Amino acid sequence: MTHFWLSPPENPDRYVLGNVHIPRDLCALKPGPDGWCNADVIIENGAIGAVMPTGTAPPDLPFTDAGQSILLSGLVDCHTHLDKAHVAAFETFTPGDLASAIEAMTRQKQTWTRQSLAARVEFSLNSAWAYGVRAMRSHVDGSPGALGFVTEVMVEAKQRWQGRIDLQLSSLANINYFEDDQFRDEVFAQAQIQGRFGAFLMGQPDLLLRLIPLFEMADAYGLDLDFHVDEGLDPALKGLEAVAYAALQTGFKGTVLCGHCVALSSYNRERRERVIDLALEAGLHFVALPSSNLYLQSRTPDNVPTLRGMGPVARLAARGVPVSLGADNVRDGFCAFGDFDPMAVLNLGAQVGHLHEPARDWAGLITTNPARTMGLKWNGKIETGAPADLVLFAARNSGEMNLRGVPERIVIRRGEWLNVAPPAFSELME
Ligand SMILES: [Zn+2]
Repeated sequence: MTHFWLSPPENPDRYVLGNVHIPRDLCALKPGPDGWCNADVIIENGAIGAVMPTGTAPPDLPFTDAGQSILLSGLVDCHTHLDKAHVAAFETFTPGDLASAIEAMTRQKQTWTRQSLAARVEFSLNSAWAYGVRAMRSHVDGSPGALGFVTEVMVEAKQRWQGRIDLQLSSLANINYFEDDQFRDEVFAQAQIQGRFGAFLMGQPDLLLRLIPLFEMADAYGLDLDFHVDEGLDPALKGLEAVAYAALQTGFKGTVLCGHCVALSSYNRERRERVIDLALEAGLHFVALPSSNLYLQSRTPDNVPTLRGMGPVARLAARGVPVSLGADNVRDGFCAFGDFDPMAVLNLGAQVGHLHEPARDWAGLITTNPARTMGLKWNGKIETGAPADLVLFAARNSGEMNLRGVPERIVIRRGEWLNVAPPAFSELME
């Protein structure tokens, strides 16, 4: 039985989760002088019955005093790679940069079997579930060397987890491969099952010309787009501009998500703001991936840390661009760290991206913003009528949230306190 630092409600169908701290972006109440919404949340039959200022909940309801613990809606991650996750449990990768990681993973994936892939995906989803994740998007390797069963295993996982984690899939391959007509047809066949597709953009020539037909095809089939863009520090990278121009020129109506955009942080101020203007005009969405960026940027064989970077999250948010944080690669050739815990990603991303008061002012990066990007039914606001899918942390403010790694949490689904923990490492078998 999981140990909770608070006593679980006797009747999960009707109780008050009282005296909680909710970030203002997730709550309609007026924040107090400390910037937090101090609230009593009434939970009724799996949903949120009401959110009231602390001390005003009806006295006849059973009351759990959370002692100003931080309450978030179920966590959301719009950029992961479940198909690659945890392969480093079975193989040691030579440390290198992005190009060497791509090479190593291209070779390594030939060892996957249907069973080993399914086991790694299940392990990853069990971890995410224990951390309070309610929805996530995973890229699915769609490059020509990809094994035929990868999409099938991912679609099976999506179906198996329906009702617990809303799993979206998005095919991924280098945009160079799209020159081949047969390859393009195969991607579209997969994309219609997955609902979206994307490509890896990293300094290829004539990007706008290559992108236009992808936008036209996505538009014709009503698909969303999800790109890996400019995953490097070199200011000569200009994939993001190409994506924005392609969206504008084609009048694309779907959602376009741009992952990474590290180079945007390397541009001078004038150029960065001009590109963000374009992104705004094109309606692009963004996701920054601090863990893999820290791992790969400027990595050289002599292991001397020099330049690091990630997308300019605070700047994008200040300009009103939808931006999220994601786990990206977990324990594979691209990144040896991570565990699909969005709060750990926020703590790290806040440190790398100079985000002040992360738990109070940036919780939207792992809740409401990715929910909007993914087009989820629930926007992640803790309000009357929303599902009681919540995560309560044993921390009262941003400082306490990151002082001891990541604090204990209580995952609440449909009002019920879950007895869950991340799976034992021994569950990962070759
Ligand atoms: Zn990625």
